[in-house]
Amino acid sequence: MSDSILVVNAGSSSIKFKLYGIDDTDLMPLLSGGMSGIGSAPLLTVKDASGAVLEERHLEASDVPDVSAAQHHLADWFTHHHGTESIIAVGHRVVHGGPAFAEPVLIDDAVLRTLETFIPLAPLHQLGNLDPIRVLRQRRPDLPQVACFDTAFHRGHPELTDRFALPRFLHDEGVRRYGFHGLSYEYVAGRLRDLAPETADGRVLVAHLGSGASLCALKEGQSQETTMSFTALDGVPMGTRCGALDPGAVLHLIEHKGMTPAEVGHMLYHESGLLGLSGLSNDVRTLLASDRPEAALAVAFFCRRVAQAAAALAVTLGGLDAFVFTAGIGENAPEIRRRIVADLGWAGLILSNDANRSGVARLDAPGSRAQIWIIPTDEECMIARHTMRLPGRTAPGATA
Ligand code: ADP
Repeated sequence: MSDSILVVNAGSSSIKFKLYGIDDTDLMPLLSGGMSGIGSAPLLTVKDASGAVLEERHLEASDVPDVSAAQHHLADWFTHHHGTESIIAVGHRVVHGGPAFAEPVLIDDAVLRTLETFIPLAPLHQLGNLDPIRVLRQRRPDLPQVACFDTAFHRGHPELTDRFALPRFLHDEGVRRYGFHGLSYEYVAGRLRDLAPETADGRVLVAHLGSGASLCALKEGQSQETTMSFTALDGVPMGTRCGALDPGAVLHLIEHKGMTPAEVGHMLYHESGLLGLSGLSNDVRTLLASDRPEAALAVAFFCRRVAQAAAALAVTLGGLDAFVFTAGIGENAPEIRRRIVADLGWAGLILSNDANRSGVARLDAPGSRAQIWIIPTDEECMIARHTMRLPGRTAPGATA
């Protein structure tokens, strides 16, 4: 059996994995799956590369109370059904690399201790990210594990971009604009370089519009600025997250409505955004299909805020050569793309309606002052490539 790389993406209530086989020049997806409903209604799923279901098993909540238990179950599945001998390294998505990590890192005890100090910066995500690392270190201390960060791609930002207008000591204590979705932006920047190398060297905006959403300004493929900042709440509104908000509104909720910080946090992360605006759904498909005015408002709000963020980032870039849509909404929702580009018409962007409806890669119409693209993202592939490089192998150049 040829070598393989396991990619693990763990959250607070789910773990997703993807297994890639390595041949000389390529990464080949072999298996994918994971455990959802950890602690409530655990479901273990494994599919092969064609999407055929190999395993779908409900477990008792008491048997899978937390992420560590879920990782043990998944590791047991591998041991009994697939074998683990071929796995030469594991790559983990870790949301926060703090101020220090500007690239992926091979995990040892010292690195793990440092990553634990970032838990307060992203309490929901970071804890879940680190648990599978600990479990696999117990089970297979010899297996190289690599942490790939959502923040790392943005660490080259200058001070002007990295700061909040808060007292200086807070920046030194780590209260700064980290930015997220970095693995997605890195992957998309690489694909754009494959598809249009000259464009990739220019001024590019990427809109990662999924259940989480942000935009990133790139020059020569490097992140210049992004809309998420200290946490993954900032920037444009998302499925259930609020996006940029007057901090005075947060103070009001605590001081005058008697909400606890935990209640406010739950509202901002899970009850706001498209769901909060519409009172109906966090899913763009449902909102577009609805004739309720609240649904229409939520969609209009989302598109307007994305276009406004794009305009602000174009200032950082000093203009715009290409606009790229990616992630669930960006790749699949022509109506949302149409409205966002329409709001950027003043900047000379013109969409080809036919191309937009058919969802091909290149969407700009003749005469558009910037190119418009759809580039599907693949964060797992990016993690697999990083993971292959770190334990001393050469990464393949081609896309999986
Ligand atoms: P994540 O990986 O962050 O969970 P995705 O990038 O998969 O999210 O995006 C999920 C979102 O994409 C869904 O909530 C939905 O709003 C949107 N989406 C997916 N498919 C479509 C579609 N065909 N049309 C419109 N929106 C879609």
